[in-house]
Amino acid sequence: PDSKLPDLGTTIFTRMSALATEHGAINLSQGFPDFDGPALLKERLNHHVASGANQYAPMAGTPALRRAIAAKTRLQHGLEPDPEQEITITAGATEALYAAITALVRPGDEVVCFDPSYDSYAPAVTLAGGRLVRLPLGPPEFRPDWAQFRASLSPRTRLVIVNTPHNPTATVWQADDFNQLWQAIADHPVFVLSDEVYEHICFTPAGHGSVLHHPRLRERAIAVSSFGKTYHMTGWKVGYAIAPPALTEELRKVHQYLTFSVNTPAQLALADMLEAHPEHWRQLPDFYRAKRDRFARALAGSRFKVLPSLGTYFLLVDYGAVSELDDVAFARWLTEHAGVAAIPLSVFCAGPFPHQLVRLCFAKQDATLDEAGARLCRL
Ligand code: PMP
Ligand code: GLN
Repeated sequence: PDSKLPDLGTTIFTRMSALATEHGAINLSQGFPDFDGPALLKERLNHHVASGANQYAPMAGTPALRRAIAAKTRLQHGLEPDPEQEITITAGATEALYAAITALVRPGDEVVCFDPSYDSYAPAVTLAGGRLVRLPLGPPEFRPDWAQFRASLSPRTRLVIVNTPHNPTATVWQADDFNQLWQAIADHPVFVLSDEVYEHICFTPAGHGSVLHHPRLRERAIAVSSFGKTYHMTGWKVGYAIAPPALTEELRKVHQYLTFSVNTPAQLALADMLEAHPEHWRQLPDFYRAKRDRFARALAGSRFKVLPSLGTYFLLVDYGAVSELDDVAFARWLTEHAGVAAIPLSVFCAGPFPHQLVRLCFAKQDATLDEAGARLCRL
């Protein structure tokens, strides 16, 4: 058929995970933990399934979970969104991102994002008839160039997509970045989609800077979170979007026909978890910092150069001293010949990406990280 997405193949995550399985490689490519989330969550899920909570949840999400998210948001950000009008539960962050883009982007609209950018944004913009304006950022800090950003705005600009902590570069926005963003768009009718799925995996002293902290920006923003990252359960696919009532109303118009509603027992289990341990997520920076540091120490004896990881459960390595292959070929070679699967960076960019960088996921048991480190040190 005449494809609506002619240039798109299967995602890099699916391809690299399949290659890792095929070659029995340690899979540090697709981002997911090789350990389980809290036992309480599993127990509560079983409980709700057994007690018959097996029919459709309300379209916007189970009230108990939306109330629990409002309370969590107050602890986390000092503001309490209205569960009725400002919180929507989605099938992972992926659905929230797709619903937000579909709800906001009209044919001919421009959407600005920073490259490298997470792979789900571009196809959603294309399917909505929009045009993605991709601003390239460079290593090691991948800092936005605000003059370039202001110059990229046009009368057709409708949406800006931001992501902090950032997948795949593991950088983190500073508070001033949100100020710069606001100053740039204040006089334009532009919305912000803020992908904050790694909000609890942030290693900087100042911590995660959310779009929700900025009183003006948040009036125009949809902030997206994912329980998959927060509770080490990526397969549960429950996320949520926080947005002012008018934006939430538009988002829900799409959500109600994309999925209608999300897995009922999982929502109830998550609500129980939040209620029993309202601050469980505070452990995450220390937990993942220890893994990051362990893995970085293991790589210190290798020929890979480790870039700083300020957030997410990824780190980038420069393999320039190991190979001259381009990053896609190198990621494949590494999987097949070194037994470690990685993600090449260029797949997150539109134009040429003149760097020799791959992304490694350290959300793994210590033994997995040690073995991967040992394999990489042999190269
Ligand atoms: N945004 C980013 C930046 C991600 O890394 C991911 C998944 N790893 C998602 C969105 C999607 O999250 P979910 O699995 O909850 O759909
Ligand atoms: N977001 C995960 C990553 O960056 C992958 C999710 C997926 O496979 N779609 O690795």
